[in-house]
Amino acid sequence: MTTELVLLGTAGAPLPVAGRGGVSSALVVDGRVFVIDCGRGTPSAFVEAGLGFSRLEAVFLTHLHADHTGDLPGLLLYPWGIRVGDIGPLAPIRVYGPSRPAAVPAGDALFHRETTIHPERPVPGAADLVESILAGYAYHLNVMPLDARMPDAGALVRGIDISLPARAQGRAQAPVLVFGDGVVRVTAVAVTHGHAVPALAYRFDTADGSVVFSGDTTVNDDLIALAQGADILVHQVADLGYLERHGITGAALDRMAGLHTDVTEVGGVAERAGRGFRGTTTAGHDGLRRVLPSRG
Ligand SMILES: [Zn+2]
Repeated sequence: MTTELVLLGTAGAPLPVAGRGGVSSALVVDGRVFVIDCGRGTPSAFVEAGLGFSRLEAVFLTHLHADHTGDLPGLLLYPWGIRVGDIGPLAPIRVYGPSRPAAVPAGDALFHRETTIHPERPVPGAADLVESILAGYAYHLNVMPLDARMPDAGALVRGIDISLPARAQGRAQAPVLVFGDGVVRVTAVAVTHGHAVPALAYRFDTADGSVVFSGDTTVNDDLIALAQGADILVHQVADLGYLERHGITGAALDRMAGLHTDVTEVGGVAERAGRGFRGTTTAGHDGLRRVLPSRG
């Protein structure tokens, strides 16, 4: 078997960046495709990488900020017409992600929202998001089959919330099993990303090795524990020094530091995660590929 990592997009933050796609990665396990996050341009990057939409099995969302989820509708809807096999629709694409938080996050005097959007459900979870995509695109899903032969829309997608047990203060988290079929095993822990609660990191294990995706997080001991011995840790970084040199200072810079791991910290994270790290990190770029095992 083979397990290959493909970085589909590496530009963080919602504002589009010329020449780079938004955050998304693919893990290809014997041709089966698992997508982690779905930022701007993911469907196009997916094709550019030579991946097949009929082999897309599942999407794992680390958290529900738009720069990690914004092109999920396209990833589901553009390939709908070919999601069919000899005996009917392919198995639904499963979309895993954080459940609704237990409480609506509140801000403070400096950073807070003014209008609460959709107050009857102000912090929808991953399954809510999928349901809302289907509702919002109901016209397409209900009318397109009248003019073109389409697979049953009811078989297109399933949204699945990941609920993590309440964490005891000061205690390490036990990773939660999200998915496992004997070939691919996916576990998750909560990470720390400001008010984006819950935010998740994922570990994928196959017979070829292990890949961990940090999502957006500050330096996090549970992520480091999750990444112990992994072959690859795909970790986000912010360059706080760069931001400061470009006019982001004071409380705004402090907030960024409270959301992300700085580029100067990620080497230490890798060091603590152990095996295989020999003092260098690779700056990811769109289209970067790594086949496991990556050791040696
Ligand atoms: Zn984020």
